[in-house]
Amino acid sequence: MPFICENVECRAVLARGQVRSSHEDEGWYFYCPDCKTRNELKDIGVPGGPVELVQPERSDLPHKIIATARPLEDGRYAAQLRVQRALGTKGTYAVEEHWEQLGVFPDAQEAIAHAKSMAIDLLERKA
Ligand SMILES: [Zn+2]
Repeated sequence: MPFICENVECRAVLARGQVRSSHEDEGWYFYCPDCKTRNELKDIGVPGGPVELVQPERSDLPHKIIATARPLEDGRYAAQLRVQRALGTKGTYAVEEHWEQLGVFPDAQEAIAHAKSMAIDLLERKA
């Protein structure tokens, strides 16, 4: 199994020989040679035995979701959302989709929460 860079904009597929895994207090990791993103690794070897590194399982691909609240002139906030869908292979991620106004809310937290729930619906629907 090769490693796959977790950076949505990179997603490099790396043979194990291409990466240098390192260990520190927080655990194992490697830096992607293409984009320098730090990728976590997990040692699944038996205690005392040889180290066996795998990438921690992700429930899904690392989609990039940016939920924001834009202040309006009347003191309320418009929920905004940008989504980049991660695809499984190098160099391919879907075109960014974005929504300027998903509704208007009295406070910023509510607007962001609304945008996030929209994102979850959206990703589930198209998955
Ligand atoms: Zn990378």
